Amino acid sequence: MKSGSSVFSRREFLKSTAALSVASALEPSALAEAAPAATAAAASKLIGIQVGAVSFVDEGVEQTLDLLQSRAAVNTIFLTTFSYGRGLAGRQVPGQPFPDHGVQESDEKTFHGGNYAKPHPQFYSHTALKQTRAPDFGELDILEAVLPKARSRGMKVFCSCEDVWRSSVPGFESVAEVDLNGRRAGSQCLFNPDVRNFWTALVTDYCRSYDVDGVLFFNERNGPLLNALGASHAQSIASGRVTCFCEHHGAAARAHGIDMDRARAGYRKLDEFVQQALTGQRPSDGYFVEFWRVLVENPEILAWDRLFDFGKHQVLADVRAAVKAVRPGLQVGFHIEHVNSFNPIFRATRRYEDLASKADFLKVVVYNNCGGERYAHFIQNVGSTVFRDVPKEELLRFNNHLLNYGDEAALSDLPEAGLSPDYVARETKRALAGVHGKCKVLPGIDVGIPTGQNSRKATPEDTYAAVAAALKAGADGVILSRKYSEMRLANVSAAGKAVRDCAA
Ligand SMILES: [Zn+2]
Repeated sequence: MKSGSSVFSRREFLKSTAALSVASALEPSALAEAAPAATAAAASKLIGIQVGAVSFVDEGVEQTLDLLQSRAAVNTIFLTTFSYGRGLAGRQVPGQPFPDHGVQESDEKTFHGGNYAKPHPQFYSHTALKQTRAPDFGELDILEAVLPKARSRGMKVFCSCEDVWRSSVPGFESVAEVDLNGRRAGSQCLFNPDVRNFWTALVTDYCRSYDVDGVLFFNERNGPLLNALGASHAQSIASGRVTCFCEHHGAAARAHGIDMDRARAGYRKLDEFVQQALTGQRPSDGYFVEFWRVLVENPEILAWDRLFDFGKHQVLADVRAAVKAVRPGLQVGFHIEHVNSFNPIFRATRRYEDLASKADFLKVVVYNNCGGERYAHFIQNVGSTVFRDVPKEELLRFNNHLLNYGDEAALSDLPEAGLSPDYVARETKRALAGVHGKCKVLPGIDVGIPTGQNSRKATPEDTYAAVAAALKAGADGVILSRKYSEMRLANVSAAGKAVRDCAA
């Protein structure tokens, strides 16, 4: 187990090791039959898993549903219906080892992404983004294929929709963001009416055309301040590429009383600061003081960042309104990205209670295994600019205190150690305390999320401990993440074992 993990996690580990030796002796079907009462009790919580279309195509719909029910006690499928990204769609990420199921061949050349259901044109009349059908599996409509079979088993099905695109999509150019230096970016402007109308159209199409249970919406994009500093987990520092300075943003800024030219000037100053910091040119007053000075002398920097958040949350509100307009009983959930775990500046821009007022459930990312390398990356990034005067190990310990992390590994060990199950429990409790019962909290559990060569790979014991930690912390359920096509079966079974043990 992780060298720096807490007493809690060590105890969990010992318990889980004993439990797993029993579990591994049982076939999945025997496991399900052996514990029918516990399975029924487990069903009172939402036990979800994220699955891309390719898994059902490769492994069969009935077979996959069978396996997920019997091994993992899953009662809800979060089916990736819209994304151009490999985090939620496609087989295993190229270059990573395949899990022990599915087709053992990379789809690098055939993966495209888009809408894996059949778009119904009448819903898309108010957007330029009309042609998004995923060509990966010809005429296959993944909702048509999966929904009736899941329903007949009493399973719920949610559409996972993710704001990740490819720039070759027809109409993309006209809605692309504009960066600090006037270049078109690979992301879409959330203030562009075509973009807002697209998301409304998409979720309306899903909810009107299919008997789904609702939508889980993913948007992991950060505002310009975090992007300038690389202050997320998987980002390079791109202070010259911050967005967005398009005409729609300009109009939104005017409506909020913000001057776009002054915002641009502020981000140029920030870009200068970041680029000098990266080459070690220490300002005479030090890095942090200079950073803070840039902020206070250019208040539009924060205002522009807040404006991005406003635009992002406006789309969340649009999605919710569109789904509820079809039927108020349909459920809407939002994926709360990993940076929410690591970055106190990001945390300050989100109130769980506010998010809860817009959603029926929040999928709070608590990916602990890959969390180690991601958190280390975050510390390296902020430690090379704003906090460059602070030794990075000290910066990590300081940040741990700000985040209410327990005894996690030191920076040099963090990628290999991952974060502990105690981190999963703490972040789950923080979310539950924050939402004040206004929505459900479903922690997203890391089940074999790909990591670097020397970084932690999730063992079944890790998966068991993380699921158990979330459920014991009081979560309303869990969502096994990121996608079935990257999970090993022993980990899937370990998740189910934890669910059943916690319900027993
Ligand atoms: Zn814009």
